[in-house]
Amino acid sequence: ATATVAPSGTTLTDVFISVKTTRHYHYSRLPAILTTWFQLAKNQTWFFTDKDDAVFQTKTNGHMINTNCSSSHNRKALCCKMSVEFDKFLESGKKWFCHFDDDNYVNVPRLVKLLDDYDPREDWYLGKPSIRAPLEIVNREGNPPSKKSLKIRFWFATGGAGFCLSRALALKMMPVASGGKFISIGDKIRLPDDVTMGYIIEHLLKKPLTVVEQFHSHLEPMKFLHKETFHDQISFSFSKNAKDEWNIVKIDGFDLKYDPKRFKSIHCYLFPYFSYCPRR
Ligand code: UDP
Ligand code: MN
Repeated sequence: ATATVAPSGTTLTDVFISVKTTRHYHYSRLPAILTTWFQLAKNQTWFFTDKDDAVFQTKTNGHMINTNCSSSHNRKALCCKMSVEFDKFLESGKKWFCHFDDDNYVNVPRLVKLLDDYDPREDWYLGKPSIRAPLEIVNREGNPPSKKSLKIRFWFATGGAGFCLSRALALKMMPVASGGKFISIGDKIRLPDDVTMGYIIEHLLKKPLTVVEQFHSHLEPMKFLHKETFHDQISFSFSKNAKDEWNIVKIDGFDLKYDPKRFKSIHCYLFPYFSYCPRR
């Protein structure tokens, strides 16, 4: 008997993973990614930065992209990077675009499993908001000064938790967001890159965000994630607050000094066969 071909199952090769970074963080943040989850998605993951860096170009097998955006942490610079990430995804021809920050640990097989539940030929905006109600802003567009400006409400997926867009949705966004137009929209609404993404998708295109609880940013307390659920989580993060206290995943593993962000400990918990993981 002849085997039937599964209808469009999603595999890792269908995914374009972008990681936003900056010249200031190459040495402090990229090594933890490169030794852990990057190893599981070397050909799919691209780093979007603001400087040519020969050292990291080698370490990533040529996967550093200099966006030529400014290296400051302002809205314009961040929207500029997101704009380049989006354009590179369109160019790649892949079925899914997933964005992460450089302080995210990405559970690669779980991400692929998530995407496999959705059809990239349909419009999908997958991610997690960090606010409890939709964002409400005063709509500047199309209101003559005489008319009272109207409030608009929309959800957006927190960039620092990661989010994904299907190719079908990205194609619909093209007329308003490709070729640098993403930056113009960010300029118009004067809000950060992830909010601009939500504005374009939810407000301009009227496509709803699908909330996926398994994306996590450091706006959540990482210690509340239980290790029994790690296999099911898509992303993790870390941060240090003003009082120098770390917000990190609570997991046994490597010494805090050697693995302060817990990426190696998470990675060995999920993938114990890695060469540097303690033999059990
Ligand atoms: N980032 C950037 N340029 C900067 C500062 C930060 O592109 O000047 C990136 C950084 O690499 C990360 C994201 O923006 O991917 C968020 O930065 P960070 O974690 O430092 O700040 P947060 O907004 O999470 O507090
Ligand atoms: Mn961060």
